[in-house]
Amino acid sequence: MEDVSSHCGPGFGMERQLFRERAAKIEAAVKAAREAFPGWSSRSPQERSRVLNQVADLLEQSLEEFAQAESKDQGKTLALARTMDIPRSVQNFRFFASSILHHTSECTQMDHLGCMHYTVRAPVGVAGLISPWNLPLYLLTWKIAPAMAAGNTVIAKPSELTSVTAWMLCKLLDKAGVPPGVVNIVFGTGPRVGEALVSHPEVPLISFTGSQPTAERITQLSAPHCKKLSLELGGKNPAIIFEDANLDECIPATVRSSFANQGEICLCTSRIFVQKSIYSEFLKRFVEATRKWKVGIPSDPLVSMGALINKAHLEKVRSYVKRALAEGAQIWCGEGVDKLSLPARNQAGYFMLPTVITDIKDESCCMTEEIFGPVTCVVPFDSEEEVIERANNVKYGLAATVWSSNVGRIHRVAKKLQSGLVWTNCWLIRELNLPFGGMKSSGIGREGAKDSYDFFTEIKTITVKH
Ligand code: NAD
Repeated sequence: MEDVSSHCGPGFGMERQLFRERAAKIEAAVKAAREAFPGWSSRSPQERSRVLNQVADLLEQSLEEFAQAESKDQGKTLALARTMDIPRSVQNFRFFASSILHHTSECTQMDHLGCMHYTVRAPVGVAGLISPWNLPLYLLTWKIAPAMAAGNTVIAKPSELTSVTAWMLCKLLDKAGVPPGVVNIVFGTGPRVGEALVSHPEVPLISFTGSQPTAERITQLSAPHCKKLSLELGGKNPAIIFEDANLDECIPATVRSSFANQGEICLCTSRIFVQKSIYSEFLKRFVEATRKWKVGIPSDPLVSMGALINKAHLEKVRSYVKRALAEGAQIWCGEGVDKLSLPARNQAGYFMLPTVITDIKDESCCMTEEIFGPVTCVVPFDSEEEVIERANNVKYGLAATVWSSNVGRIHRVAKKLQSGLVWTNCWLIRELNLPFGGMKSSGIGREGAKDSYDFFTEIKTITVKH
C-alpha cells in the first residue's frame, strides 16, 4: 500500500510523479497537523481525555472486527488478536486519557535571593510516529495516544506490511470526534514515506519502533534537524533458569515467551540458559511442551501459532536454523525434524514449527543476532557470575527473564543484567505506568506514563523574582 495522505487519500502512478506527489502529500499532512496544533494543544487535558476515551469506547465496540482484520493481515492467531492486540490498543487510549489528568510540575524556592523557580511543560508540535508489523495496532496506538493526550498533533506511519487496522482506525477517529488534522495516518514504505516524514524540518520529534538498521538511518536523517528521538528496537533476550526454579511454571511460560506471536515479539526469549544440574530434565520437558504447540490457520481456536509475516521473513528465519546445523548444533524439534501438517489449502502459507536448538556456541549468529521468529537456543551454565556475563555478552539489552525461588539471587542477577526490563518467575506482565524500553542497541529512551509525557512535551524552567 503506497499512499500518503492526511486521512487516507488516493494512490500514486509513475516513480518520478510518485516522488513529487509523495513530497506534496507529506507536505499536506504536515500542513494539516500544523494548522490543527493551536486548537488541539490549547484544549484542556480534560477535553483531550474525553476524546481519547471516546476513541477507546468505539474501538472496544469494534473489537471483533479489528481482531479479525489484524489476524488476517499479520498472521497472528485470532485468539491473540482478540485477547492481546486489540484490547491493549483500547487500553492505550484509556490509559493515556487518564494519565494526562495527573501530571504535576516542580517548584523550588530560593528565599535568600527572593525568587522561586518552577517548570512548565508544553506539547512539542507535530509528532512523527513510525511503527513495525509485528503488533500493528497495539504499537501504533501506544504512540498515537500519548502524543495526542499531551496536546501534539501527529503524523503516524504504520508498517506497509500491516496497514489494514490503521486504515480502519482513520474512520473510527473521525467518528470519535478527533478534529481534522490532529491525527494524520500516512501509508507507504519506509524508504519512501518514512524518510520523507523523518526528514521533514517541521516534524521536530520522531518516535520509532522497529529494527536497529532502520533506527541508524532515522538517526542520520534526524541529526541535521536536532530532532527529539525515541527508539524502541530489537532484542536477543535471555531466560536464565536456576536449579531451584519451579519448572512446572517456568516451562510453559518459557515456551510462550519463546514462541508467542510466532516469536515475532521484540520481547521474546531466544537464548535459554539452564543451570547444568537441571539441564537434561529441563530440555526434555521443554521440547515435549514445545511439540504440543499447534501451528495452523490463525482462526483455529486450537492453534497456538499462526503464520509468519511473509516469505522473505520465513526464509530468513529458516536460514538461521541451517546455519546452526552447519555449525554442528542439534535441532531437537521443529524445522527439519518434525513434519508440519496443515490442511491442503493452507500449504502455501508462511508457517514454521517452533524450533529448539542446542549444542551451539555463544558466538554463533543464532545466539547473537535477532532472529524474530519461532527459534530458540538452549544452553547450559554453571554459576551465577558466569551466566550474567554470558547473558550480557550481546549488543542488545531489551528484556530478560530470571527463574529461581531465591529472592536474593533474583535481585542480584536482575540488577546486573544489562536489560531495560527484567521479568522474574513470569513473562510479559506489563504495568503501563512504568518505563518500557531497552539498553545498548535495543534503543534510546523509555515509554510509559511519565516517560511518554516527558518525551512528547518540552520542559521549561521559569524563574520569578519576587
Ligand atoms: P523495520 O525497521 O523494518 O520497520 C519499522 C517501520 O519503519 C516500518 O513502518 C517501516 O516502513 C519503517 N521504515 C523502514 N525503513 C525506514 C526508513 N529508512 N525511514 C523511515 N522509516 C522506515 O522493522 P520491522 O521489520 O517492521 O519490525 C521488526 C523490528 O521491530 C524487530 O527488530 C523488532 O525487535 C522491533 N520491535 C521493537 C519493539 C520494541 O518495543 N522495542 C517492538 C516491536 C518490534
